[in-house]
Amino acid sequence: MRTRRTIAAAMSVLALTAVAACGKDAPAATDTAAKLPTYTVKADAKVEGSKTFDEAKKRGKLIIGAKADQPYLGFENPTTGTREGFDIEIAKMIAADLGFAPDKIEFKTINSANRETSISGGQIDYYVGTYSITPARKEKVAFAGPYYVAGQDLLVLKDKAEYTSAESIKGKKVCSATGSTSVKQIEKFAPVLPVTQYDTYAQCVDKLLTNEVDAVTTDDAILKGFAAKNAGKLRVVGKTFSQEPYGVGVAKEDAAFQKAVADALKAHEDNGDWKKAYDATLGLSGAAAPEIPALTN
Ligand code: GLU
Repeated sequence: MRTRRTIAAAMSVLALTAVAACGKDAPAATDTAAKLPTYTVKADAKVEGSKTFDEAKKRGKLIIGAKADQPYLGFENPTTGTREGFDIEIAKMIAADLGFAPDKIEFKTINSANRETSISGGQIDYYVGTYSITPARKEKVAFAGPYYVAGQDLLVLKDKAEYTSAESIKGKKVCSATGSTSVKQIEKFAPVLPVTQYDTYAQCVDKLLTNEVDAVTTDDAILKGFAAKNAGKLRVVGKTFSQEPYGVGVAKEDAAFQKAVADALKAHEDNGDWKKAYDATLGLSGAAAPEIPALTN
């Protein structure tokens, strides 16, 4: 025990020395990486004619739907209970412009299959969680975005070199989340029926690690996070076969709220917060920062 502590102490001294040696202009990589931006909370926020905003104000907090199992995107830290990831940062930026500080946000975990019903049923004020803008979903909810564009890909065991594209997993066992665009597209693109389905992608990844399925399919952004968390075991194939423009889901009938959310996204993209948030979250999974897509909703 004592030896271990002594080694740990020696190592932290070394680490401090290394940081100091880098000097002011070149902070250590881990130092920069850990820095999440904070967002200025608007004191006088108003959204004229928005039922969603009025109800949140009355309640004194925002209720935001998010994922809990997607590393670097929407993840609930099991030790601290806090939410982390790029989608969580996007949710916080918007909240700040609506006048809500982080301690006035309640995150609710909503999986892929339950997004439209929780938005249209008013259980959440808005949803941020790798949510692709699609014509079918737009029949039921409205979107602000896109704020990021992903592409569907495959996650496989690292040593399975034979999996090189969607075609290469034809006839194999593929796992994805119920209610996602990923299930529909893989069925269309490479018939692998029946697709094994769970509520979350984390459940699929567990099945991949125990060899019960051959691949997990969904957005590359999600898969890169799981690959990074299981370093040395998993590999993202790297050949995307769809475009997944991520939007913030809001109630269809609340046009004023939709506009307020879109304005908030634009403001934080323009002032550099988007990029800072990306670098401190999704960027850590090894995905290079993409161009920020133009808002079309
Ligand atoms: N972006 C895709 C979708 O919205 C897949 C990821 C997800 O299920 O959240 O369906």
